[in-house]
Amino acid sequence: MNVDLKSDVKFIGMAAFLHAAISYVKNTSIMRKKLEKNDLNLKLALIATDLPNAALIIFEDKQVAVKPLAEKDWENINKWDIKIEGDCQTFFDYFMGRLGAVRPILFRKLKTTPYLTGSLKLLKVLWFVKTSVKLFTENISLSEAMFYKFYNYGQEKRKLFSEQEGDKFGYNGKILWVDLDKMEVKEEEPDTEIYQKYLGGYGLGAYYIYNRIKPDSDPLGPENILGFCPGLLTGTTAPFSGRYMICAKSPLTGGWGDANSGGRFGPAIKKSGYDAIFFTGKAEKPVYLLIEEDNIELISASEIWGKDVVETENTLTEKYGRCDIASIGLGGENRSLISGIVNDSSRIAARSGLGAVMGSKNLKAICITGKQRLNIANKEEMMKLTKSYIKKINNKKNDFIISYFVKLAPSFARLLRLTNIHYSNFKISTLYAQFLAKIGTPFFYGIMTNVGDAPIKNYTGVAKKEFQKKRYKKMDGSYLQKYYSGSVGCYACPLRCGAKLSIPEYDIEDIDRPEYETLAAFSGLILNDDLKSILLINDYLNRQGIDTISCGGVVAFTLECVEKGLLKKEDFKCKEYPEGFLPKWNESEYILTLCKMIAKREGIGDILADGVKKAAKEIKDSKKFAIHAGGQELPMHDARLTKGLMLTYVTDPTPGRHTAASADYFLVGPGNNFLDGFKVKTGKKPKKKGKAQAKTAKFIQSFNSLGLCMFSEWCGKYPLLEMIKAITGWNLSVEDLLEIGWRIQTLRQMFNAREGAIRHDISKRAIGDPPMKKGPLKGNKINVEEMAQYYYENIGFKEDGIPKKETLEELDLDFCVSDLSDATGRPESVVNESL
Ligand code: SF4
Repeated sequence: MNVDLKSDVKFIGMAAFLHAAISYVKNTSIMRKKLEKNDLNLKLALIATDLPNAALIIFEDKQVAVKPLAEKDWENINKWDIKIEGDCQTFFDYFMGRLGAVRPILFRKLKTTPYLTGSLKLLKVLWFVKTSVKLFTENISLSEAMFYKFYNYGQEKRKLFSEQEGDKFGYNGKILWVDLDKMEVKEEEPDTEIYQKYLGGYGLGAYYIYNRIKPDSDPLGPENILGFCPGLLTGTTAPFSGRYMICAKSPLTGGWGDANSGGRFGPAIKKSGYDAIFFTGKAEKPVYLLIEEDNIELISASEIWGKDVVETENTLTEKYGRCDIASIGLGGENRSLISGIVNDSSRIAARSGLGAVMGSKNLKAICITGKQRLNIANKEEMMKLTKSYIKKINNKKNDFIISYFVKLAPSFARLLRLTNIHYSNFKISTLYAQFLAKIGTPFFYGIMTNVGDAPIKNYTGVAKKEFQKKRYKKMDGSYLQKYYSGSVGCYACPLRCGAKLSIPEYDIEDIDRPEYETLAAFSGLILNDDLKSILLINDYLNRQGIDTISCGGVVAFTLECVEKGLLKKEDFKCKEYPEGFLPKWNESEYILTLCKMIAKREGIGDILADGVKKAAKEIKDSKKFAIHAGGQELPMHDARLTKGLMLTYVTDPTPGRHTAASADYFLVGPGNNFLDGFKVKTGKKPKKKGKAQAKTAKFIQSFNSLGLCMFSEWCGKYPLLEMIKAITGWNLSVEDLLEIGWRIQTLRQMFNAREGAIRHDISKRAIGDPPMKKGPLKGNKINVEEMAQYYYENIGFKEDGIPKKETLEELDLDFCVSDLSDATGRPESVVNESL
């Protein structure tokens, strides 16, 4: 690209403001029209008219070309010899401020609101143009700096990590392998490059498990690998960074499995001196792993096997003093495919059936007492960023006006319903910060039930008809507030969204407040309005390490089987009820007993303990009532209301999860405020949803692998790049995070491709086939196939969901290429016609 720095810098400045102008005054630019007429098949063209250096800047696929032009050139525009010169995304990002300072200076000021239209908008654009011209003509040094940085960016990018060679900041540089067959432990030191490419969390987990597990392994056999992986930032003071991920091949879905939990256990792993712990093999008898400062040992678990997680934690704490523990209850011990792994007595990595994997290895618990310190690249800066962010969050939590609004929430929910306004229109980070801190996820309960987000009566009901306000209001967050007896939060969290409740009339003291998912799964989904029963069920399932979302789905399936006469009283015989019992909609009486039967695999509980998909194979004619995606029960967010969620439920490597990356979920709150330079734009059309989903999926994989809590996305701007730099010394850009996330998502997808578990079947009822005849979801049907195709196209996968060879090569996943020959996609419909 031949450009004279002194004379050509101006057109770059002009290009920046013209880009904004063109996007605001769509299709009115004469030059743009000329371009379109000439059918150049351009992705995007910017025209800089800063004469005499007018130029055409063309973005084509991933490249950018610059062509100086004069008016006469318009005649022969088709004949131009455009040379593709640079990396389009780099260039574009530069102007959008993703790599530099332009955005804060200019673009933020242009930020418009939905109410700004007509002449007001034009005035704002004119102001912007004027400011841009002033800035770029008067401030030549800034323009030069930008220009220089653009030209040198490729080189800089390669040097991003080089200063850090030999240094390990924010991580330990060691992982622990525990061979349960041989009862041996071994340390491994991953290359720095592995951290740079996969960060931590399930990024690191995916790298090691993909490379070390044999394809087609039995998920409940000794060959499965179970990884406990804290995020890269976990264990530091970075706010919201206390999460860790558990990974393995999932026995519930047959593909990649991961689950996420908070509390203190993730940081404890980092402070034990390891960045991850992986288990292989199977112990002959039940054991637990003890990691002390100078001692790592596998110890017989005979005294804790059979105990619930609270009893297990108490026993180990008595023995070792202050320690952090992750363990399984009866669910995992009995290899229930809907069981998870619990830490901090009630924080559960619930999904994907990983409790069963731990149980299958005869591993009862991990107990950590070590407290090593992590090296931090720039501790002072990390503390400064942490303090200023926490101060901001505290201001939001104490905002007086929003506080008033939070109090009015229940009546407000009704107003939303009556006016048919979606709650996601209120993208106010102060509101989200405040209600999460004050009421937690139950804040959503009344609103979600009202607007049709929480599924009613196993996806067949309408709240207004079958589960009216007088029944559901008792479960609403603001109602539960009067029983509040203390807060519960994760390590390094400025919000603490959990709580304990004490309810004298129920004779209950300091019980965990159920999360929204549990409340919805055991109320509207099964038409149960008995709050006490829900509190006790939540407590029991947490203690036994059973996923409350899946278990709620299983109970709803069972009640529908009873209603349709497929299950009879005698099918429910158990120790407590030798003659059997008959659980029904609208009755709470036997639900806890049913949950106990599931945890113990007693009677019919043995069939139900493996989830609805497997149970439907055992109970004749029941398939229609089994609501799941790829074997995993769906969360309490009905995709018939928020359609993009179905794309996540069906295409994410771990199906049926609302916490997996979802553009629509990200945008329910003010997700776009989270990070400068990262915005997601979606729309109603499948094409837009697919594209937005691909972008979100790339980002969220990095976000998760850093160990951040998803609720931080909705609390306003987070100094993410600055925090990563302060902790690790790495100079990452948003683009780097997107690339790393893309690599992680592609590797998770390749795991499933190799296992033949790519696209997950979905129950017809869940996609609105047939559509609901009444209520807020009336007539809604989801075209999941079309959305999936656009998602695959935008993330570099083929139509059948298998990653393209070029994608693998671009992402340095060459080690996966040879597996492509054995990969199996699912070209047929994902909609399960039998359901
Ligand atoms: S917001 Fe809630 S889930 Fe997230 S880190 Fe804080 S306490 Fe944990």
